[in-house]
Amino acid sequence: MISTELLPLNIGGEWRLGGGDAYESLYPATGEPIARLKAASTADVDEAIVRADLAFRTSGWAQKLPHERAAVLHRVAQIIRDEAEPLAQKQRLDNGKPINETRALVASAAGTFQFFAAALETLEETITPSRGPFVTMSVHEPMGVVAAITPWNSPIASEAQKLAPALAAGNAVIVKPAEVTPLMALELARICEKAGVPKGIVSVLPGRGSVIGDAITKHPLVKRVSFTGGTATGKHIAHIAADKMMPVSLELGGKSPTMVLEDADLDHAVNGVLYGIFSSSGESCIAGSRLFVARSIYDEFVTRVAEAAKALRVGDPASERTQMGPLITAKHRESIERYVELGVSEGAHIRTGGVRPHGAGMDNGYFYTPTILEGLTNNARTTQEEIFGPVLVAMPFDSEEQLIEQANDSIYALAAGVWSRDFKRAWRLGRAVQAGTVWINTYKQFSVSTPFGGWRDSGLGREKGREGIFQYMEQKSMYWGTNDQPLPWANQ
Ligand code: NAD
Repeated sequence: MISTELLPLNIGGEWRLGGGDAYESLYPATGEPIARLKAASTADVDEAIVRADLAFRTSGWAQKLPHERAAVLHRVAQIIRDEAEPLAQKQRLDNGKPINETRALVASAAGTFQFFAAALETLEETITPSRGPFVTMSVHEPMGVVAAITPWNSPIASEAQKLAPALAAGNAVIVKPAEVTPLMALELARICEKAGVPKGIVSVLPGRGSVIGDAITKHPLVKRVSFTGGTATGKHIAHIAADKMMPVSLELGGKSPTMVLEDADLDHAVNGVLYGIFSSSGESCIAGSRLFVARSIYDEFVTRVAEAAKALRVGDPASERTQMGPLITAKHRESIERYVELGVSEGAHIRTGGVRPHGAGMDNGYFYTPTILEGLTNNARTTQEEIFGPVLVAMPFDSEEQLIEQANDSIYALAAGVWSRDFKRAWRLGRAVQAGTVWINTYKQFSVSTPFGGWRDSGLGREKGREGIFQYMEQKSMYWGTNDQPLPWANQ
Protein backbone atom coordinates (compact mmCIF):
# COMPACT_ATOMS: atom_id res chain seq x y z
CA MET A 1 0.00 0.00 0.00
CA ILE A 2 1.46 3.36 -1.04
CA SER A 3 -0.69 5.03 1.62
CA THR A 4 -3.60 3.97 3.77
CA GLU A 5 -4.97 7.52 3.53
CA LEU A 6 -7.42 8.33 0.76
CA LEU A 7 -5.46 10.04 -2.01
CA PRO A 8 -6.53 13.56 -2.93
CA LEU A 9 -7.22 14.49 -6.57
CA ASN A 10 -6.30 17.76 -8.23
CA ILE A 11 -9.61 19.50 -8.88
CA GLY A 12 -9.09 22.90 -10.47
CA GLY A 13 -5.78 23.35 -8.67
CA GLU A 14 -7.10 22.28 -5.27
CA TRP A 15 -5.89 18.98 -3.79
CA ARG A 16 -8.88 17.31 -2.17
CA LEU A 17 -10.83 14.07 -2.10
CA GLY A 18 -13.07 13.36 -5.07
CA GLY A 19 -16.80 13.46 -4.58
CA GLY A 20 -17.36 10.04 -6.20
CA ASP A 21 -17.18 6.48 -4.88
CA ALA A 22 -14.15 5.25 -2.94
CA TYR A 23 -12.10 2.54 -4.63
CA GLU A 24 -8.77 0.80 -4.43
CA SER A 25 -6.07 0.64 -7.06
CA LEU A 26 -4.65 -2.91 -7.15
CA TYR A 27 -1.15 -4.21 -7.89
CA PRO A 28 -1.76 -6.60 -10.80
CA ALA A 29 1.11 -8.88 -9.75
CA THR A 30 -0.50 -9.73 -6.41
CA GLY A 31 -4.04 -8.37 -6.48
CA GLU A 32 -3.22 -6.34 -3.35
CA PRO A 33 -4.42 -2.76 -2.93
CA ILE A 34 -1.70 -0.16 -3.40
CA ALA A 35 -3.74 3.01 -3.01
CA ARG A 36 -7.21 4.16 -1.98
CA LEU A 37 -8.95 7.12 -3.47
CA LYS A 38 -12.35 8.58 -4.12
CA ALA A 39 -13.17 9.00 -7.80
CA ALA A 40 -14.12 12.40 -9.16
CA SER A 41 -17.84 13.18 -9.32
CA THR A 42 -19.61 14.99 -12.16
CA ALA A 43 -19.77 18.06 -9.88
CA ASP A 44 -15.96 17.86 -9.55
CA VAL A 45 -15.74 17.72 -13.36
CA ASP A 46 -17.77 20.89 -13.71
CA GLU A 47 -15.82 22.69 -11.00
CA ALA A 48 -12.43 21.69 -12.43
CA ILE A 49 -13.39 22.81 -15.93
CA VAL A 50 -14.85 26.15 -14.79
CA ARG A 51 -11.69 26.79 -12.76
CA ALA A 52 -9.51 25.71 -15.67
CA ASP A 53 -11.31 28.20 -17.90
CA LEU A 54 -10.75 30.93 -15.30
CA ALA A 55 -7.07 29.98 -14.98
CA PHE A 56 -6.70 29.99 -18.75
CA ARG A 57 -8.10 33.53 -18.93
CA THR A 58 -6.49 35.03 -15.84
CA SER A 59 -3.37 33.12 -14.71
CA GLY A 60 -1.08 34.49 -17.44
CA TRP A 61 -0.12 30.98 -18.63
CA ALA A 62 -1.44 31.51 -22.16
CA GLN A 63 0.17 34.96 -22.35
CA LYS A 64 3.66 33.83 -21.37
CA LEU A 65 6.17 34.18 -24.18
CA PRO A 66 7.14 30.84 -25.75
CA HIS A 67 10.57 30.75 -24.10
CA GLU A 68 9.00 31.48 -20.70
CA ARG A 69 6.48 28.62 -20.97
CA ALA A 70 9.22 26.41 -22.38
CA ALA A 71 11.34 27.08 -19.28
CA VAL A 72 8.53 25.72 -17.08
CA LEU A 73 8.21 22.61 -19.26
CA HIS A 74 11.98 22.07 -19.08
CA ARG A 75 11.62 22.16 -15.28
CA VAL A 76 8.85 19.52 -15.49
CA ALA A 77 11.24 17.31 -17.52
CA GLN A 78 14.01 17.86 -14.97
CA ILE A 79 11.80 17.02 -11.97
CA ILE A 80 10.62 13.82 -13.69
CA ARG A 81 14.29 12.89 -14.18
CA ASP A 82 15.18 13.80 -10.57
CA GLU A 83 12.34 11.59 -9.30
CA ALA A 84 12.68 8.90 -11.98
CA GLU A 85 13.20 5.88 -9.75
CA PRO A 86 10.30 6.46 -7.31
CA LEU A 87 8.05 7.30 -10.26
CA ALA A 88 9.04 4.11 -12.09
CA GLN A 89 8.41 2.03 -8.95
CA LYS A 90 5.01 3.64 -8.43
CA GLN A 91 4.04 3.05 -12.04
CA ARG A 92 5.10 -0.61 -11.69
CA LEU A 93 2.70 -0.93 -8.78
CA ASP A 94 -0.03 0.96 -10.59
CA ASN A 95 -0.10 -1.16 -13.74
CA GLY A 96 2.18 -4.14 -13.16
CA LYS A 97 4.65 -3.59 -15.98
CA PRO A 98 8.19 -4.86 -15.37
CA ILE A 99 10.45 -2.25 -13.78
CA ASN A 100 12.68 -1.98 -16.86
CA GLU A 101 9.64 -0.97 -18.89
CA THR A 102 8.34 1.54 -16.38
CA ARG A 103 11.81 3.12 -16.15
CA ALA A 104 11.73 3.53 -19.93
CA LEU A 105 8.23 5.05 -19.77
CA VAL A 106 9.32 7.58 -17.15
CA ALA A 107 12.37 8.51 -19.26
CA SER A 108 10.09 8.87 -22.27
CA ALA A 109 7.76 11.20 -20.33
CA ALA A 110 10.71 13.43 -19.39
CA GLY A 111 11.90 13.39 -23.00
CA THR A 112 8.42 14.36 -24.19
CA PHE A 113 8.33 17.47 -21.97
CA GLN A 114 11.86 18.36 -23.07
CA PHE A 115 10.98 17.92 -26.74
CA PHE A 116 7.82 20.02 -26.61
CA ALA A 117 9.63 22.72 -24.60
CA ALA A 118 12.23 22.88 -27.37
CA ALA A 119 9.59 22.71 -30.10
CA LEU A 120 7.64 25.55 -28.47
CA GLU A 121 10.69 27.77 -28.08
CA THR A 122 11.68 27.33 -31.72
CA LEU A 123 8.21 27.22 -33.29
CA GLU A 124 7.79 29.64 -36.18
CA GLU A 125 4.63 31.03 -37.67
CA THR A 126 4.45 31.62 -41.41
CA ILE A 127 4.13 34.64 -43.63
CA THR A 128 2.17 33.39 -46.65
CA PRO A 129 2.69 34.72 -50.21
CA SER A 130 0.68 37.89 -50.55
CA ARG A 131 -1.87 38.16 -53.37
CA GLY A 132 -2.88 41.77 -52.85
CA PRO A 133 -2.03 44.98 -51.00
CA PHE A 134 -1.69 43.20 -47.68
CA VAL A 135 0.76 41.04 -45.76
CA THR A 136 -0.73 37.62 -44.98
CA MET A 137 0.26 35.51 -42.01
CA SER A 138 -0.84 32.24 -40.46
CA VAL A 139 -0.65 32.13 -36.65
CA HIS A 140 -1.92 29.77 -33.95
CA GLU A 141 -3.78 30.50 -30.72
CA PRO A 142 -4.35 28.29 -27.67
CA MET A 143 -7.85 26.81 -27.47
CA GLY A 144 -8.70 27.25 -23.79
CA VAL A 145 -9.63 24.15 -21.80
CA VAL A 146 -8.66 20.88 -23.49
CA ALA A 147 -9.00 17.32 -22.21
CA ALA A 148 -6.65 14.35 -22.26
CA ILE A 149 -8.31 10.96 -21.78
CA THR A 150 -5.85 8.08 -21.40
CA PRO A 151 -5.88 4.26 -21.08
CA TRP A 152 -4.17 2.09 -18.50
CA ASN A 153 -1.45 0.46 -20.54
CA SER A 154 1.35 3.09 -20.55
CA PRO A 155 0.22 5.73 -18.07
CA ILE A 156 2.97 8.28 -17.57
CA ALA A 157 4.06 8.19 -21.22
CA SER A 158 0.60 8.55 -22.74
CA GLU A 159 -0.33 11.32 -20.31
CA ALA A 160 2.89 13.22 -21.04
CA GLN A 161 2.26 12.79 -24.76
CA LYS A 162 -0.92 14.85 -24.41
CA LEU A 163 -0.15 17.09 -21.45
CA ALA A 164 3.20 18.40 -22.76
CA PRO A 165 1.99 19.69 -26.17
CA ALA A 166 -1.32 20.92 -24.71
CA LEU A 167 0.52 22.94 -22.05
CA ALA A 168 3.14 24.10 -24.55
CA ALA A 169 0.29 25.48 -26.64
CA GLY A 170 -0.83 27.56 -23.65
CA ASN A 171 -4.00 25.69 -22.72
CA ALA A 172 -5.50 24.52 -19.45
CA VAL A 173 -5.71 20.72 -19.37
CA ILE A 174 -8.13 18.29 -17.75
CA VAL A 175 -6.50 14.87 -17.49
CA LYS A 176 -8.76 11.84 -17.14
CA PRO A 177 -6.59 8.76 -16.50
CA ALA A 178 -7.99 5.24 -16.64
CA GLU A 179 -9.85 4.32 -13.46
CA VAL A 180 -7.44 1.47 -12.68
CA THR A 181 -4.22 3.49 -13.16
CA PRO A 182 -4.75 6.93 -11.59
CA LEU A 183 -1.40 7.44 -9.85
CA MET A 184 0.94 8.71 -12.58
CA ALA A 185 -1.43 11.44 -13.77
CA LEU A 186 -1.70 12.68 -10.17
CA GLU A 187 2.10 12.67 -9.94
CA LEU A 188 2.35 14.68 -13.16
CA ALA A 189 -0.08 17.27 -11.78
CA ARG A 190 2.06 17.58 -8.64
CA ILE A 191 5.23 17.92 -10.72
CA CYS A 192 3.66 20.56 -12.99
CA GLU A 193 2.67 22.57 -9.92
CA LYS A 194 6.19 22.26 -8.48
CA ALA A 195 7.68 23.40 -11.82
CA GLY A 196 5.57 26.57 -11.84
CA VAL A 197 2.47 25.75 -13.91
CA PRO A 198 -0.22 28.01 -12.37
CA LYS A 199 -2.91 26.45 -10.18
CA GLY A 200 -6.01 25.38 -12.09
CA ILE A 201 -4.16 24.92 -15.38
CA VAL A 202 -3.87 21.17 -14.75
CA SER A 203 -6.57 19.03 -13.13
CA VAL A 204 -6.61 15.26 -12.75
CA LEU A 205 -9.97 13.51 -12.50
CA PRO A 206 -9.85 9.73 -12.16
CA GLY A 207 -13.09 7.79 -12.33
CA ARG A 208 -15.34 5.71 -14.55
CA GLY A 209 -15.00 6.58 -18.22
CA SER A 210 -18.71 6.34 -18.95
CA VAL A 211 -19.40 8.91 -16.18
CA ILE A 212 -16.37 11.17 -15.80
CA GLY A 213 -14.95 10.83 -19.31
CA ASP A 214 -18.40 11.42 -20.76
CA ALA A 215 -19.04 14.50 -18.59
CA ILE A 216 -15.68 15.98 -19.61
CA THR A 217 -16.27 15.32 -23.31
CA LYS A 218 -19.75 16.87 -23.25
CA HIS A 219 -18.80 19.94 -21.21
CA PRO A 220 -19.33 23.11 -23.28
CA LEU A 221 -16.10 24.73 -22.04
CA VAL A 222 -13.96 21.81 -23.25
CA LYS A 223 -12.66 22.82 -26.66
CA ARG A 224 -10.80 19.69 -27.66
CA VAL A 225 -10.46 16.08 -26.53
CA SER A 226 -7.35 14.06 -27.16
CA PHE A 227 -8.30 10.45 -26.54
CA THR A 228 -6.32 7.23 -26.42
CA GLY A 229 -8.23 4.02 -25.84
CA GLY A 230 -10.53 1.49 -27.45
CA THR A 231 -12.17 2.01 -30.84
CA ALA A 232 -15.74 1.71 -29.51
CA THR A 233 -15.08 4.44 -26.91
CA GLY A 234 -13.34 6.55 -29.55
CA LYS A 235 -16.36 6.39 -31.85
CA HIS A 236 -18.65 7.36 -28.96
CA ILE A 237 -16.45 10.40 -28.25
CA ALA A 238 -16.41 11.29 -31.97
CA HIS A 239 -20.24 11.39 -31.98
CA ILE A 240 -20.31 13.77 -29.02
CA ALA A 241 -17.60 15.87 -30.67
CA ALA A 242 -19.61 16.08 -33.88
CA ASP A 243 -22.59 17.49 -31.95
CA LYS A 244 -20.34 20.10 -30.31
CA MET A 245 -18.35 20.80 -33.51
CA MET A 246 -15.29 20.03 -31.39
CA PRO A 247 -12.03 18.73 -32.86
CA VAL A 248 -10.79 15.44 -31.45
CA SER A 249 -7.77 13.26 -31.89
CA LEU A 250 -8.33 9.56 -31.45
CA GLU A 251 -5.54 7.04 -30.88
CA LEU A 252 -7.39 3.71 -30.97
CA GLY A 253 -6.93 -0.02 -31.31
CA GLY A 254 -4.86 -2.16 -33.64
CA LYS A 255 -4.25 -5.65 -34.99
CA SER A 256 -0.94 -5.02 -36.63
CA PRO A 257 0.63 -7.32 -39.22
CA THR A 258 4.27 -8.35 -39.06
CA MET A 259 5.60 -9.71 -42.34
CA VAL A 260 8.68 -11.96 -42.41
CA LEU A 261 10.07 -12.55 -45.89
CA GLU A 262 12.25 -15.53 -46.81
CA ASP A 263 15.34 -13.30 -47.12
CA ALA A 264 14.96 -11.78 -43.63
CA ASP A 265 17.76 -11.83 -41.08
CA LEU A 266 16.05 -14.46 -38.95
CA ASP A 267 17.91 -13.66 -35.71
CA HIS A 268 16.71 -10.08 -35.91
CA ALA A 269 13.22 -11.07 -37.02
CA VAL A 270 12.72 -13.61 -34.19
CA ASN A 271 13.71 -11.00 -31.62
CA GLY A 272 11.58 -8.32 -33.24
CA VAL A 273 8.50 -10.52 -33.45
CA LEU A 274 8.83 -11.57 -29.80
CA TYR A 275 9.32 -8.01 -28.63
CA GLY A 276 6.52 -6.77 -30.89
CA ILE A 277 3.87 -9.03 -29.42
CA PHE A 278 4.99 -10.11 -25.94
CA SER A 279 6.59 -6.98 -24.45
CA SER A 280 4.11 -5.14 -22.21
CA SER A 281 2.30 -8.53 -22.05
CA GLY A 282 0.85 -7.69 -25.45
CA GLU A 283 -1.17 -4.87 -23.85
CA SER A 284 -0.04 -2.51 -26.51
CA CYS A 285 -2.03 -0.83 -29.28
CA ILE A 286 0.81 -1.44 -31.74
CA ALA A 287 1.41 -5.08 -30.75
CA GLY A 288 2.39 -7.11 -33.83
CA SER A 289 -0.40 -9.61 -33.26
CA ARG A 290 -0.79 -11.01 -36.82
CA LEU A 291 2.37 -12.76 -38.03
CA PHE A 292 2.73 -13.54 -41.74
CA VAL A 293 5.73 -15.72 -42.62
CA ALA A 294 6.90 -16.81 -46.08
CA ARG A 295 5.84 -20.46 -46.46
CA SER A 296 9.38 -21.64 -47.31
CA ILE A 297 10.67 -20.57 -43.88
CA TYR A 298 7.39 -20.80 -41.92
CA ASP A 299 8.12 -24.01 -39.95
CA GLU A 300 11.67 -23.05 -39.04
CA PHE A 301 10.72 -19.50 -38.12
CA VAL A 302 7.63 -20.27 -36.04
CA THR A 303 9.53 -23.05 -34.24
CA ARG A 304 12.21 -20.53 -33.27
CA VAL A 305 9.64 -17.95 -32.13
CA ALA A 306 7.73 -20.60 -30.13
CA GLU A 307 10.88 -21.89 -28.40
CA ALA A 308 11.93 -18.35 -27.55
CA ALA A 309 8.41 -17.50 -26.31
CA LYS A 310 8.51 -20.49 -23.93
CA ALA A 311 11.83 -19.21 -22.57
CA LEU A 312 10.55 -15.69 -21.83
CA ARG A 313 10.80 -14.84 -18.15
CA VAL A 314 7.26 -14.20 -16.90
CA GLY A 315 6.92 -13.08 -13.30
CA ASP A 316 7.72 -10.49 -10.68
CA PRO A 317 7.62 -6.99 -12.24
CA ALA A 318 10.04 -5.77 -9.55
CA SER A 319 12.81 -7.99 -10.93
CA GLU A 320 15.06 -6.52 -13.59
CA ARG A 321 15.23 -9.96 -15.22
CA THR A 322 11.47 -10.13 -15.82
CA GLN A 323 10.39 -9.75 -19.44
CA MET A 324 6.62 -10.16 -19.03
CA GLY A 325 4.59 -9.05 -16.03
CA PRO A 326 0.93 -9.71 -15.29
CA LEU A 327 -2.08 -8.46 -17.22
CA ILE A 328 -3.84 -5.39 -15.91
CA THR A 329 -6.87 -6.98 -14.20
CA ALA A 330 -8.45 -10.38 -13.53
CA LYS A 331 -11.31 -9.39 -15.86
CA HIS A 332 -8.94 -8.55 -18.70
CA ARG A 333 -7.18 -11.90 -18.32
CA GLU A 334 -10.56 -13.64 -18.57
CA SER A 335 -11.28 -11.76 -21.79
CA ILE A 336 -7.96 -12.98 -23.24
CA GLU A 337 -8.73 -16.53 -22.18
CA ARG A 338 -12.09 -16.29 -23.94
CA TYR A 339 -10.30 -15.20 -27.13
CA VAL A 340 -7.95 -18.18 -26.96
CA GLU A 341 -10.99 -20.49 -26.51
CA LEU A 342 -12.64 -18.76 -29.47
CA GLY A 343 -9.48 -19.31 -31.52
CA VAL A 344 -9.54 -23.02 -30.71
CA SER A 345 -13.23 -23.22 -31.65
CA GLU A 346 -12.30 -21.53 -34.96
CA GLY A 347 -9.74 -24.27 -35.64
CA ALA A 348 -6.59 -22.93 -33.96
CA HIS A 349 -3.85 -25.15 -32.63
CA ILE A 350 -2.11 -23.71 -29.54
CA ARG A 351 1.57 -23.91 -30.44
CA THR A 352 2.65 -22.64 -27.04
CA GLY A 353 1.10 -20.94 -23.99
CA GLY A 354 -2.63 -20.61 -23.51
CA VAL A 355 -2.45 -21.13 -19.73
CA ARG A 356 -1.98 -19.26 -16.46
CA PRO A 357 1.51 -19.83 -15.06
CA HIS A 358 1.73 -20.96 -11.44
CA GLY A 359 4.22 -20.77 -8.59
CA ALA A 360 7.05 -18.29 -8.10
CA GLY A 361 4.68 -15.77 -6.51
CA MET A 362 2.36 -15.69 -9.51
CA ASP A 363 -0.71 -17.43 -8.10
CA ASN A 364 -2.56 -14.31 -6.95
CA GLY A 365 -1.56 -12.06 -9.85
CA TYR A 366 -3.13 -11.86 -13.30
CA PHE A 367 -0.37 -13.66 -15.20
CA TYR A 368 -0.74 -15.40 -18.56
CA THR A 369 1.78 -17.26 -20.68
CA PRO A 370 2.99 -16.01 -24.08
CA THR A 371 0.66 -17.71 -26.53
CA ILE A 372 0.99 -18.60 -30.22
CA LEU A 373 -1.97 -19.79 -32.26
CA GLU A 374 -1.60 -21.51 -35.64
CA GLY A 375 -4.04 -22.88 -38.20
CA LEU A 376 -6.30 -19.81 -38.38
CA THR A 377 -7.09 -17.84 -41.50
CA ASN A 378 -6.80 -14.08 -41.68
CA ASN A 379 -10.57 -13.70 -41.57
CA ALA A 380 -11.12 -15.65 -38.33
CA ARG A 381 -12.50 -13.46 -35.53
CA THR A 382 -9.44 -14.28 -33.41
CA THR A 383 -7.21 -12.95 -36.21
CA GLN A 384 -9.32 -9.86 -36.83
CA GLU A 385 -10.33 -8.64 -33.35
CA GLU A 386 -8.02 -6.84 -30.98
CA ILE A 387 -7.17 -9.14 -28.05
CA PHE A 388 -4.82 -6.71 -26.29
CA GLY A 389 -2.81 -9.47 -24.68
CA PRO A 390 0.11 -11.85 -25.31
CA VAL A 391 -1.54 -13.80 -28.13
CA LEU A 392 0.12 -14.12 -31.54
CA VAL A 393 -1.66 -15.59 -34.57
CA ALA A 394 0.88 -17.04 -37.04
CA MET A 395 0.05 -17.68 -40.70
CA PRO A 396 2.09 -18.63 -43.80
CA PHE A 397 1.89 -16.64 -47.03
CA ASP A 398 2.70 -17.63 -50.63
CA SER A 399 3.07 -14.42 -52.60
CA GLU A 400 3.67 -10.72 -52.09
CA GLU A 401 0.23 -9.93 -53.56
CA GLN A 402 -1.52 -12.28 -51.14
CA LEU A 403 0.57 -10.91 -48.29
CA ILE A 404 -0.40 -7.29 -48.93
CA GLU A 405 -4.04 -8.16 -49.48
CA GLN A 406 -4.21 -10.00 -46.14
CA ALA A 407 -2.09 -7.50 -44.21
CA ASN A 408 -4.48 -4.73 -45.29
CA ASP A 409 -7.60 -6.82 -44.70
CA SER A 410 -8.42 -5.43 -41.26
CA ILE A 411 -10.60 -2.67 -39.85
CA TYR A 412 -7.45 -1.46 -38.10
CA ALA A 413 -4.43 0.23 -39.66
CA LEU A 414 -2.22 1.38 -36.81
CA ALA A 415 1.18 -0.22 -37.42
CA ALA A 416 3.01 -2.86 -39.43
CA GLY A 417 6.40 -4.57 -39.54
CA VAL A 418 8.44 -5.78 -42.51
CA TRP A 419 11.49 -8.04 -42.17
CA SER A 420 13.59 -8.41 -45.33
CA ARG A 421 17.20 -7.93 -46.44
CA ASP A 422 16.00 -6.81 -49.87
CA PHE A 423 15.58 -3.07 -49.51
CA LYS A 424 13.52 -2.79 -52.70
CA ARG A 425 10.95 -5.35 -51.50
CA ALA A 426 10.92 -3.82 -48.04
CA TRP A 427 10.30 -0.40 -49.58
CA ARG A 428 7.53 -1.79 -51.81
CA LEU A 429 5.78 -3.54 -48.94
CA GLY A 430 6.35 -0.63 -46.56
CA ARG A 431 4.60 1.70 -49.02
CA ALA A 432 1.81 -0.77 -49.88
CA VAL A 433 0.78 -1.64 -46.33
CA GLN A 434 -1.88 0.67 -44.92
CA ALA A 435 -0.77 1.79 -41.47
CA GLY A 436 0.07 4.91 -39.51
CA THR A 437 3.54 3.55 -38.69
CA VAL A 438 5.66 0.98 -40.54
CA TRP A 439 8.78 -0.52 -39.00
CA ILE A 440 11.27 -2.07 -41.40
CA ASN A 441 13.77 -4.49 -39.83
CA THR A 442 12.81 -3.23 -36.39
CA TYR A 443 9.58 -3.03 -34.37
CA LYS A 444 7.91 -1.00 -31.62
CA GLN A 445 10.52 1.74 -31.69
CA PHE A 446 9.33 5.23 -30.85
CA SER A 447 10.53 8.75 -31.19
CA VAL A 448 8.63 11.75 -29.86
CA SER A 449 9.92 13.71 -32.84
CA THR A 450 8.02 11.45 -35.28
CA PRO A 451 4.23 11.70 -35.72
CA PHE A 452 2.12 8.78 -34.48
CA GLY A 453 -1.47 7.78 -35.20
CA GLY A 454 -3.71 5.39 -37.05
CA TRP A 455 -5.81 5.04 -40.18
CA ARG A 456 -9.37 3.68 -40.36
CA ASP A 457 -10.65 2.28 -37.03
CA SER A 458 -7.23 2.88 -35.49
CA GLY A 459 -7.90 6.57 -35.16
CA LEU A 460 -7.92 10.13 -36.36
CA GLY A 461 -5.18 12.73 -36.14
CA ARG A 462 -1.54 12.51 -35.14
CA GLU A 463 0.34 13.01 -31.88
CA LYS A 464 4.04 13.80 -31.38
CA GLY A 465 6.34 15.62 -33.77
CA ARG A 466 6.78 19.40 -33.83
CA GLU A 467 3.34 19.68 -35.39
CA GLY A 468 1.89 17.99 -32.29
CA ILE A 469 1.56 21.38 -30.58
CA PHE A 470 -0.77 22.60 -33.34
CA GLN A 471 -3.27 19.86 -32.43
CA TYR A 472 -4.00 21.94 -29.35
CA MET A 473 -4.24 25.31 -31.12
CA GLU A 474 -6.62 27.04 -33.47
CA GLN A 475 -5.17 28.38 -36.68
CA LYS A 476 -5.75 32.02 -37.55
CA SER A 477 -5.01 33.89 -40.77
CA MET A 478 -4.10 37.58 -40.47
CA TYR A 479 -4.20 40.15 -43.27
CA TRP A 480 -2.31 43.44 -42.67
CA GLY A 481 -3.47 46.07 -45.15
CA THR A 482 -0.68 48.02 -46.84
CA ASN A 483 -2.90 50.11 -49.14
CA ASP A 484 -2.00 53.74 -49.69
CA GLN A 485 -5.59 54.35 -50.83
CA PRO A 486 -8.94 53.30 -49.20
CA LEU A 487 -10.47 50.03 -50.48
CA PRO A 488 -11.89 50.89 -53.91
CA TRP A 489 -15.40 49.38 -53.56
CA ALA A 490 -17.16 52.21 -51.70
CA ASN A 491 -15.87 54.88 -54.13
CA GLN A 492 -15.12 57.22 -51.20
P1 NAD B 1 -11.08 2.36 -23.00
O1 NAD B 1 -11.56 2.90 -24.29
O2 NAD B 1 -11.98 1.48 -22.23
O3 NAD B 1 -10.69 3.54 -21.99
C1 NAD B 1 -9.75 4.55 -22.32
C2 NAD B 1 -10.06 5.77 -21.49
O4 NAD B 1 -11.34 6.28 -21.86
C3 NAD B 1 -10.15 5.51 -19.98
O5 NAD B 1 -9.67 6.62 -19.27
C4 NAD B 1 -11.65 5.35 -19.77
O6 NAD B 1 -12.05 5.62 -18.45
C5 NAD B 1 -12.17 6.41 -20.73
N1 NAD B 1 -13.56 6.20 -21.16
C6 NAD B 1 -14.28 5.05 -21.19
N2 NAD B 1 -15.54 5.28 -21.62
C7 NAD B 1 -15.62 6.61 -21.89
C8 NAD B 1 -16.64 7.45 -22.38
N3 NAD B 1 -17.86 6.99 -22.65
N4 NAD B 1 -16.37 8.75 -22.55
C9 NAD B 1 -15.14 9.25 -22.29
N5 NAD B 1 -14.13 8.50 -21.80
C10 NAD B 1 -14.36 7.19 -21.61
O7 NAD B 1 -9.70 1.64 -23.32
P2 NAD B 1 -8.76 0.86 -22.30
O8 NAD B 1 -9.34 -0.48 -22.05
O9 NAD B 1 -8.42 1.72 -21.13
O10 NAD B 1 -7.44 0.74 -23.19
C11 NAD B 1 -7.26 -0.25 -24.12
C12 NAD B 1 -7.51 0.27 -25.52
O11 NAD B 1 -6.72 1.41 -25.79
C13 NAD B 1 -7.12 -0.73 -26.59
O12 NAD B 1 -8.10 -0.79 -27.59
C14 NAD B 1 -5.84 -0.15 -27.17
O13 NAD B 1 -5.56 -0.54 -28.48
C15 NAD B 1 -6.09 1.30 -27.05
N6 NAD B 1 -4.82 2.05 -27.07
C16 NAD B 1 -4.52 2.79 -28.18
C17 NAD B 1 -3.31 3.47 -28.25
C18 NAD B 1 -2.94 4.29 -29.45
O14 NAD B 1 -2.10 5.17 -29.32
N7 NAD B 1 -3.52 4.05 -30.62
C19 NAD B 1 -2.42 3.41 -27.17
C20 NAD B 1 -2.76 2.65 -26.07
C21 NAD B 1 -3.98 1.97 -26.03
